[in-house]
Amino acid sequence: MVKVNVKFSVMFKDATGTTGITVDTAGETVKDLIDALIKQFGLQFSERILDAKTGGVRRFINIFVNGKDIRNLQGVDTKLEEGAEVRLIPAVAGGNEFLGFTQDQIVRYSRQIILKEVGGAGQKKLMRSSILVVGAGGLGSPASLYLAAAGVGKIGIIDSDRVDLSNLQRQLLHTNDDIDRPKIESAKEKLLKINPEIEVIAYKERLTADNALNIVGGWDFVLDGSDNFPTKFLLNDACVLKNVPFSHGGVLRFVGMTTTILPGKGPCYRCLAPEAPPLGMIPTCQEAGVLGAVSGVIGTIQATEILKYLLGAGDLLVGRILFFDALEMRFEEFELKRDPKCQVCGDQPIIKDPSQVDYGHVCEVRF
Ligand SMILES: [Zn+2]
Repeated sequence: MVKVNVKFSVMFKDATGTTGITVDTAGETVKDLIDALIKQFGLQFSERILDAKTGGVRRFINIFVNGKDIRNLQGVDTKLEEGAEVRLIPAVAGGNEFLGFTQDQIVRYSRQIILKEVGGAGQKKLMRSSILVVGAGGLGSPASLYLAAAGVGKIGIIDSDRVDLSNLQRQLLHTNDDIDRPKIESAKEKLLKINPEIEVIAYKERLTADNALNIVGGWDFVLDGSDNFPTKFLLNDACVLKNVPFSHGGVLRFVGMTTTILPGKGPCYRCLAPEAPPLGMIPTCQEAGVLGAVSGVIGTIQATEILKYLLGAGDLLVGRILFFDALEMRFEEFELKRDPKCQVCGDQPIIKDPSQVDYGHVCEVRF
């Protein structure tokens, strides 16, 4: 019986729950060690490491003892000495697939697959997910960049605007060369440059009371990156009616706020404010200004919430509003309760179809 230290590649982590352990083997060889590991970690581990047909170690699994490949020693009959270090690593060269990931995907997502909350299964979930980003602007830029980088399989972007020089101070999807291009074109190009594996669907149109239900329906999650109240209320109503979770975000000057809305499971944006303030009462970013980095903070929090939702990890900002004050550099949190009288998610909702609601005059909308 020898005691050896075993280190697993990240790719084994969902089967072993750990990247390293000390094992007491019954015998002295690598084969004895593998038997001990299978006994400890069960079928899932066994399927990873053993070829079902031959019963031997899968060809693409490399086993190193004290830094030496056992293929250059005595294979699975290699003797283990007390305190030996054994590493199990799947091959990362060539066109092999592992757990259904390509080698490039394993490397691309390695820093998040290693997280217990992500793992191989979580990464697969992200790759199968679809997110609609409303507005390729100050919030939509950082959010969509992170979602694309994380491997969210399908990202929709809706924006009817063209890139303006004044956007570049905060809308990091766009560069100087994109001025006058439709924002969705510029956005699609950047997201695919970061991650060519994803699909980007661009809607060069404005979200209206007539198209909102159609556009919002079917997505796993919607990100509100708009900067005007009519769109925010319209998006809220459409998401609640279509039962699509969404992240609300808003920024102005040095402050920002965000909350996560899961229809049927918590309050909605209309529970916070029953209707939009009259036009002109609250200034827009255009009129009041905004520090670009503040939209970066809020947009990034929104992307984080989305990734958490997709992974089923942690606590979401449901029933909580997070306020960010950059000048004081302080976050504050307030409770948001579902309003039984809410017009869209209350006990007796009045709003059944956005096309029957007056959302106010949506003029000069710039995300
Ligand atoms: Zn509500």
